Amino acid sequence: MKRVVLALGGNALGDNLHEQMIAVKIAAKAIVDLVEEGYEIIITHGNGPQVGMINLAMETATKVDESFFYIPMSVCVAMSQGYIGYDIQNALREELLSRNINKPVATIITQTVVDANDPAFKNPTKPIGAFYTKEEAEEMTKRGYDMIEDAGRGYRRVVASPMPVSIVESETIRTLVESGHIPITVGGGGIPVKEAQNRHLKGTSAVVDKDFASAKLAEELEADMLVILTAVEKVAIRFGKENQEWISKMSVDDANEYIKEGHFAPGSMLPKVEAAISFVKSGKDRKALITMLEKAKDGLVGKTGTEICN
Ligand code: ADP
Ligand code: MG
Repeated sequence: MKRVVLALGGNALGDNLHEQMIAVKIAAKAIVDLVEEGYEIIITHGNGPQVGMINLAMETATKVDESFFYIPMSVCVAMSQGYIGYDIQNALREELLSRNINKPVATIITQTVVDANDPAFKNPTKPIGAFYTKEEAEEMTKRGYDMIEDAGRGYRRVVASPMPVSIVESETIRTLVESGHIPITVGGGGIPVKEAQNRHLKGTSAVVDKDFASAKLAEELEADMLVILTAVEKVAIRFGKENQEWISKMSVDDANEYIKEGHFAPGSMLPKVEAAISFVKSGKDRKALITMLEKAKDGLVGKTGTEICN
C-alpha cells in the first residue's frame, strides 16, 4: 500500500468561515477517491487566512480590554489547527460514511521543532495579522515586535519563517496511519517550538512553511509520495510568459537548475518545489507531485501534474 502525504493549499480551504465549509466538502470527495484507490493518506494543510483571522481577533480583544492577555502567534497556530481540523475531519467523516467506508479520522495538534539559531530568526519576513498606522507600529517596535511597511497598505508585524527540524508528534501519526486512521496534521506548518531547558518545548513567534513541514513529516513517516495540492495542475517554467511551458516531470537536478534560473516565485511555487526536492532527496524511491486537488487521482498514476523524482 502506498503511503501518501497530501498537503492541501489555500484553495482547498477558502478565505473565510463560509468558504471553508464549502471548500472542505469538495476536498473531502477528492481525498476519499484516493482512499478508495487504496492509498494510505495523511492530510496536512495551510492556515494563512485562518491564522490571520484569529490573530486579528486576539489583537482586537487586547485593544478593547486591557486585561485581556496577549495571545502569542504559536497559540494562534494551535487554534487554527483545531478550527480547520474540525471542519476537515467532519467533512471527511461524512464523505466516508456516505460511501460505506469505515475509517476513523482525527486531527492531531502538531508541533514542529525549529532551531533557535535558524538564520530566519535574524531576518523575519512573513507578514501576519492586522495593519497598523505608523504611530501604532512605532509603539509596537518599542514593545519588541518586528514591523514592516507592507506595500503601501500600512504597517504589519512580521515573523520569522524558520525551517522545520522535526515533527514532535510523528510517532503518533505513524501509529494512527498504520492502524487505518486518516490523520490531519502539521496544520499551518505545525506550531513552531524551540527545545528549551528541562525538556520544555517553548512556542515561538514564527510560522513554518506548510510545504516544508509536510516534506519533513513525509520524510519521518517514510512516505512513498509527497503530494502538494495547489491552484495549478502543473508547475511551469517561464510562468505567465508567452513562452510558458508546463512541466510533467523533473529530476532534482532539473528542478535545481530551474530554481537557479528563477522560474518559481518566492512565497508561492518556490517553497513547493524546494519542499519536493528535500523529500525526494531524503530516501530511495521517493517521489513528489505538485498538482491540483481535482487532478490528484490522475496525478498519482502519472497522468498529470508535475512529478519530481531522483
Ligand atoms: P497554496 O496556497 O496552494 O499553498 P500558493 O498560492 O502560495 O499556494 O502558490 C501556488 C501558486 O503559485 C500557483 O497558483 C501559481 O499562481 C503560482 N506560481 C508561481 N510560479 C509558478 C510556476 N513557475 N508554475 C506554476 N505556478 C506558479
Ligand atoms: Mg495560496
